[in-house]
Amino acid sequence: MKNKLATGATIGILGGGQLGRMLALAAHRLGLNTHIFCPDPNSPAFAVTPHKTIAAYEDIASLVKFAQSVDCVTYEFENVPAATAAAITQAGTALFPSAKALETSQDRLVEKRFISTIGIEVAPYAKVDSQSALNSAVKKIGLPAVLKTRHFGYDGKGQTILKTDDDVANAFAAIGEQPAILESFVPFEKEISVIIARDQTGHVAAYDPAENVHQNHILKTSTVPGNISKALGEAAKAIATQLIIALDYVGVMGVEFFVVSTPDGDKLVVNEFAPRVHNSGHWTQAACLNDQFEQHIRAVAGWDLGSPERHSNVVMENLIGDEIIAGMQTTESNAQVHHYGKSEIRKGRKMGHINRIFTKKGTN
Ligand code: AMP
Repeated sequence: MKNKLATGATIGILGGGQLGRMLALAAHRLGLNTHIFCPDPNSPAFAVTPHKTIAAYEDIASLVKFAQSVDCVTYEFENVPAATAAAITQAGTALFPSAKALETSQDRLVEKRFISTIGIEVAPYAKVDSQSALNSAVKKIGLPAVLKTRHFGYDGKGQTILKTDDDVANAFAAIGEQPAILESFVPFEKEISVIIARDQTGHVAAYDPAENVHQNHILKTSTVPGNISKALGEAAKAIATQLIIALDYVGVMGVEFFVVSTPDGDKLVVNEFAPRVHNSGHWTQAACLNDQFEQHIRAVAGWDLGSPERHSNVVMENLIGDEIIAGMQTTESNAQVHHYGKSEIRKGRKMGHINRIFTKKGTN
């Protein structure tokens, strides 16, 4: 059943980073209000929202008050604690995407199992909860392999590549003896992602796949169209569609894929999904009339989705650390610059991005 919010309604957002900021900007353009909940008083999103709560995610009384003051709640990061999500729903307020999507994405083992159970290919993996389990996992999966903590990994944090037996010897201690998985190293040709949305009546809208390039484990550029065949792009959209339906998901999600070349042509292996708007979807702000932020707000508000159609070719470039200084001087006629309003520049910190659009030729 769809619970359609009227303009003037208020959407609660857990998390006040740049994604929360851009969600709030999109909501306000549609005549919806936002209330942002974040423990950090310097949150970039606070500058663009009329309502805010500065409190810890463990502060149940503040969460209940927040939940009761809004018409639904969403989030901009996947590490929302389970108890925080439960406090929202127990206060009688709808949470989108659901706690199930959140829980599935928070644990790499649960996530990989879920994805493979519905018949989508992931890298071969094994559960690791001790050094001896790691030794057996290496025997089963082989080297090179990637050891990843099950929880709280992003931008390459909490993971290490194992190439030799020496690397394996102390690897479990090196990741802090945390629950982990070992994944076979995927010899990928490139990485792509699909940003996909599902509304409260089950309609799905997928954006065109982006080809993503990382530098120092941080996304640097997303290019659309990527250098992939139309058929592979359609296959990626179909897999993302299958996944979003299986999760009974409401909102926008990012699905990351490895493109692997085989004697039979390129194939797709899913790396992971993020239950939120995604950095590799920022290109939609300049190349589509309805961007991923508007799409997410529409979905959680119970509205119909906008069209994911792309009117231009586009390259999104992240401005990391002091790149923001030169980036803000950009006046190219095809460039759209975004500043996240973070007061302090730090090495490796995402400070903003530039979308450069190009004429779209043909149907690709
Ligand atoms: P993740 O935190 O799982 O998104 O991983 C971050 C990045 O590490 C990915 O975007 C890949 O570039 C690389 N990576 C992760 N897992 C693998 C794998 N199994 N094989 C090869 N590269 C990987």
